[in-house]
Amino acid sequence: TELALQQSQKMEAVGRLTGGIAHDFNNLLTAILGNVDLALRRLGDGDERLKRSLNSARQASERAASLVQRLLAFSRQHPLEVRAVDVNKLVQGMSELLRRTIGETITVESVLAGGLWKTAVDPNQLENALLNLAVNARDAMPGGGRLTIETANTYLDDAYVTANASDVSSGQYILIAISDTGGGMSKEVIERAFEPFFTTKPSGSGTGLGLSMVYGFVKQSGGHIKIYSEAGEGTAIKLYLPRLMDENQVEPWVPTEPAAERK
Ligand code: ADP
Repeated sequence: TELALQQSQKMEAVGRLTGGIAHDFNNLLTAILGNVDLALRRLGDGDERLKRSLNSARQASERAASLVQRLLAFSRQHPLEVRAVDVNKLVQGMSELLRRTIGETITVESVLAGGLWKTAVDPNQLENALLNLAVNARDAMPGGGRLTIETANTYLDDAYVTANASDVSSGQYILIAISDTGGGMSKEVIERAFEPFFTTKPSGSGTGLGLSMVYGFVKQSGGHIKIYSEAGEGTAIKLYLPRLMDENQVEPWVPTEPAAERK
């Protein structure tokens, strides 16, 4: 619990710091991009070599801008909107988005349990978390593969809690497991994976914030997260969200139109 608290305080501080820096960077990048564009226009049909360098400066600034956007999205503090969520429905509503994000070389399979309990979480945060996990799975399978999303009613018993999850109590949980057939993670990577800014991806492609966001969401929701992976063996990430015992206590989640249509 102490550790989880430290981690969440660290995340909050990092979030605030990043937000400030990202905001300033965004302004600077806008200035750089504006001036590069101006120079390109002035140059017209002029010096080809100069145009090439300006264009590569432009591309680099655009990449930086998209990174900054992701950092801003991370640090933005939305008010929490907790709802009684039907996770199966939420996953089904995301299927189109997931398929588009993941590309054609990867098959997406979902195994959704019947009679799934509800959980009280912020549905937007849960969608973001699942999207982050799917993006990681995609990045781990550049040559294609299979992504599986599984849901189940489950029970974390005292033995499991003592051994793996001192930060939650034993009881009923909804399990969401995201597995891939990708390159897997070494022990060292698993140990650091939830740290903000920890990434093994080439600079410019990873922010190292995905899993720390997912971790933050799960902890905030009173849940538990565990990584099962080995280098070369694929990865399974299991999220445990507490069962909502009294559904009348929490406003029901109403899927937005497009998500509902996609059912
Ligand atoms: P990012 O994806 O930007 O690197 P994350 O916090 O989401 O940041 O992930 C941290 C690191 O954990 C990744 O750089 C990668 O090394 C590892 N990782 C996460 N998910 C997977 C996965 N499904 N398969 C293999 N490695 C993963």
